[in-house]
Amino acid sequence: MPKAQQTRKVARTGRKRRVAGWTLLALGVVVAAVWVWSGWGRLLWEFAVVPGPHATLDRRQLRVTSGELEIDRYEVLKDGFAGGRLGLRPPSGLHVSMSGESPLWRWTLIRQTGDEDRDGDFKTSKTRVGLWPVPLLLWPPAALLLRSGIVARRRAMKGACPKCGYSLAGLAVGASCPECGRASVR
Ligand SMILES: [Zn+2]
Repeated sequence: MPKAQQTRKVARTGRKRRVAGWTLLALGVVVAAVWVWSGWGRLLWEFAVVPGPHATLDRRQLRVTSGELEIDRYEVLKDGFAGGRLGLRPPSGLHVSMSGESPLWRWTLIRQTGDEDRDGDFKTSKTRVGLWPVPLLLWPPAALLLRSGIVARRRAMKGACPKCGYSLAGLAVGASCPECGRASVR
């Protein structure tokens, strides 16, 4: 194998694990940043008004505020109910604003609430999911993947087996590891 090609192959060792590790780490950082921001801020996405079964429109909203992701559903229960009181209108996209109140973070894991109005005309249901557990779930596997990817590259650069660290010095180029059987990167 030519030297340059061999060097590239050594540098690529563990690359998938490093990329996956950095990706999970970055996703966790983004969610953590949104979680912090949501103490002051409010993000509302009116993403759909869908046809309901009662010749009217039901509405869906996604909201991020106070450390929670909230999914709201408004459903019309009666034929002929005009959605005006619900403010049903075409979805108007993404709104980002600051709450203007003292920062507030809720430590919700999962919270579900539902409400039917007095006349039984419509039903609202809200599902709230806390954002804080997301980075905590992403970071441990990110750390493991990064560590494993970095260790593998370091071993390959030292001329050792990336998988088990056994020294491959003196072995023929292309020979697999005598200790664990991994195909050679040399
Ligand atoms: Zn090995």
